[in-house]
Amino acid sequence: MKDLLEIVLAESRTEDDVANAPLPQSFRAVTLHRDEVDMFAGTAPADRDPRKSIHIDDVPVPALGPGEALVAVLASSVNYNTVWSALFEPVPTFAFLERNGRASEAAARHDLPYHIIGSDLAGVVLRTGPGVTKWRPGDEVVAHCLHVELEEADGHNDTMLDPAQRIWGYETNFGGLAELSLVRSNQLMPKPRHLTWEEAAAPGLVNSTAYRQLVSRNGADMKQGDNVLIWGAGGGLGSYATQLALAGGAFPICVVSSAEKARTCRAMGAEAVIDRSAEDYRFWSSGEPDVREYRRFGRRIRELTGGEDVDIVVEHPGRDTFGASVFVARRGGTIVTCASTSGYVHQYDNRYLWMNLKRIIGSHFANYREAWEANRLIAKGVVHPTVSRSYPLTDTSTGVQDVHNNVHQGKVAVLCLAPHEGLGVRDAELRERHLPAINRFRATAGRAS
Ligand code: NAP
Repeated sequence: MKDLLEIVLAESRTEDDVANAPLPQSFRAVTLHRDEVDMFAGTAPADRDPRKSIHIDDVPVPALGPGEALVAVLASSVNYNTVWSALFEPVPTFAFLERNGRASEAAARHDLPYHIIGSDLAGVVLRTGPGVTKWRPGDEVVAHCLHVELEEADGHNDTMLDPAQRIWGYETNFGGLAELSLVRSNQLMPKPRHLTWEEAAAPGLVNSTAYRQLVSRNGADMKQGDNVLIWGAGGGLGSYATQLALAGGAFPICVVSSAEKARTCRAMGAEAVIDRSAEDYRFWSSGEPDVREYRRFGRRIRELTGGEDVDIVVEHPGRDTFGASVFVARRGGTIVTCASTSGYVHQYDNRYLWMNLKRIIGSHFANYREAWEANRLIAKGVVHPTVSRSYPLTDTSTGVQDVHNNVHQGKVAVLCLAPHEGLGVRDAELRERHLPAINRFRATAGRAS
């Protein structure tokens, strides 16, 4: 691995240097073990410790199939699906690998006693399989996590609607939290040239998800001037939704749970911020929704917007907040949801929805085009990475525990083959131009975390 790493890190390397570099027999990866899926039985998800289920193993290099690429991973990131995977919630991810493994010989490669997790990467293409012409060894790339077959017509207009749609590194094996990773070549996108490896690896999953949820016609179809309520605006999804709202001429109303995160939202340019802890909203009282608290929350939003309600709610906390989200959306407004962190059985009063002609939209990751558009905004410096902290691969489980405990801000990056932060910048001039914006998040969130 040392020789390969030297070649991969050399800025002057050629396609031949990389193509001719011998591959190692094995590589280090963050894994879960199939024989441990019951280790947390009887323990509530909130009390489970991902540091117990996450391993660093030496694993064999997988065989490369048609249309695939083997990538040397310089950096990756922790997503909330990393947390779900490591807690074996709501189901152990081995269930996906087993089910998919029955589909074909190629898919059977993924059904192993270990699962290499991780749904983001920034790295260098090492090898490509038969049929790949767009990407070459040596190309610097990021990967989005949409893994589809595209054999069924259902997915032809919107690749997220493919019946065989999977999230790479969650529902497939050989994910990004590793020194090497296997992807479909059509998951690859150019690495933004002004970013370091860890900055480039961080936005992928959450930025693409926020793009579909908020900007795309498949989501809320945001327009200039919209008021956008963003839960968890200092977290992964929220930090990108906030930037997308600001860049699109909308007005984000950011909800967070600490003064530090409120500062971070202001550093990103948001003016309207609600600290839900300081203002102590209790949307549930004795197991029932408390409409008086919904009204108090709605009044606070109007104070911040000059009397207006919100056009769009970016929902993901789920059970704890969903009733309030439906209530505070304006007449004709949209609640767009992609998750249920606090519980996936939601309760809301339907009178507020139908009498006021509101809409609820379900959203999940992003189709190929949306992921590409979202990455383009990063590459152009319209949206910036929100990395608050990086961990070495061997300490990934600490980063996962940070996200599980909600003590992080923005994104937690993981250095896989990159020996330290700060490597990988190829366009220093572009970086110089965007450095104040890139640093603003890190300076505020990094100090707090
Ligand atoms: P994250 O980095 O942990 O951020 C989530 C934020 O939500 C936290 O910072 C927290 O902010 C807020 N939050 C958590 N629990 C809350 C509650 N009970 N009430 C109000 N706010 C709460 O995670 P993320 O990456 O943004 O992901 C958020 C959720 O979306 C996860 O469940 C994840 O699995 C899901 N997700 C889904 C997709 C998809 O494609 N469907 C893609 C990405 C993420 P404060 O404490 O500061 O308020």
